[in-house]
Amino acid sequence: MFVPDELAAGTSFQPSREQQHYLLNVMRCRDGDSVLVFNGRDGEWQAEVKRGGRRDCELMVRQETRRQASSPDLWLLFAPVKKARLDFIAQKASEMGCSRIWPVRTDHCQVSRVNDERMLANAIEAAEQTERLDIAEIMPFTGLAAALDACEADRHIIFCDETSAGAGEMNAVRVLTEAAPVAKAAIVIGPEGGFSEDERMMISGRQNSLKLSLGPRILRADTAAIAALACFQSVCGDWT
Ligand code: SAH
Repeated sequence: MFVPDELAAGTSFQPSREQQHYLLNVMRCRDGDSVLVFNGRDGEWQAEVKRGGRRDCELMVRQETRRQASSPDLWLLFAPVKKARLDFIAQKASEMGCSRIWPVRTDHCQVSRVNDERMLANAIEAAEQTERLDIAEIMPFTGLAAALDACEADRHIIFCDETSAGAGEMNAVRVLTEAAPVAKAAIVIGPEGGFSEDERMMISGRQNSLKLSLGPRILRADTAAIAALACFQSVCGDWT
C-alpha cells in the first residue's frame, strides 16, 4: 500500500480515510495484523494495524521487508489522448517500468489539458499492482521541443515513427540491439494524427536519436507505447 509518510522503524501514522476504510472494511484487518507499505523512497516496510475506534486505525511501522529499488532510467514522451486511454497509458507505462511519464503537446495533438493528479493516481495504483517500490514521475504537460531539450546528451531518443512501419531494417528489436547498451532512453510516441513533418525532422535531428518501426500495422498511440516499452525492456532494460 502506498503512503506519503516517512517510513522508519518505530514510526506510526494514520493512513488516509479511504485507506482506513480499505484496511478495516475491505481487508477486514484486526488489531495487530500486518500490512506492507511503501512511499517510493524508503523501501517496503511491514506495518502493524492498531485499531482505534470502529472506523479508524493507525499503522505502526515495524521492519523493512525490501530495500528501495529504482526502475530503469526510461522516459515515455507521448502526445496525450482522451481520458480513458490516458489512464490506460499512465497505468501500463508504470507497470512496464517507466521512470518518467511525460505528456507532450504536438502539432496534431487533440487534447488541451491533462489531469496530472489523475495520472499520478494511476501511476501509484500500478506501482501497488506490480510491487515496484518507486513511483513513475508524472511530468506536467509540456511542448515537445521543451521535453526533448530536457533529454541529456547521453539519453537515447527512441522515435517511434509510423512512416517507417513495416520497414524490416527499422524493426524495433533490431535497432535497439544494434544500439545496446542503452542506459538512458526516452521513447517518443505521436498523437492519433501523427507527427508533423517539422516534428519528425526535429526528433530525428536530435543527438542519439533512434528511429524505429513497430511493425507493418499503424498502432493506436496507447498500443504503440506499450509495444515500444516491451521491445526496450527486453533488449536494453530490466527484462534482460
Ligand atoms: N495518424 C497516423 C498514426 C498515428 S499512430 C497515421 O495514420 O499515419 C500514433 C503514434 O503511434 C505514432 O505517431 C507513432 O509514434 C506510433 N506508432 C503507431 N504505429 C507505429 C508503427 N507501426 N511503427 C512505429 N510507430 C508507430
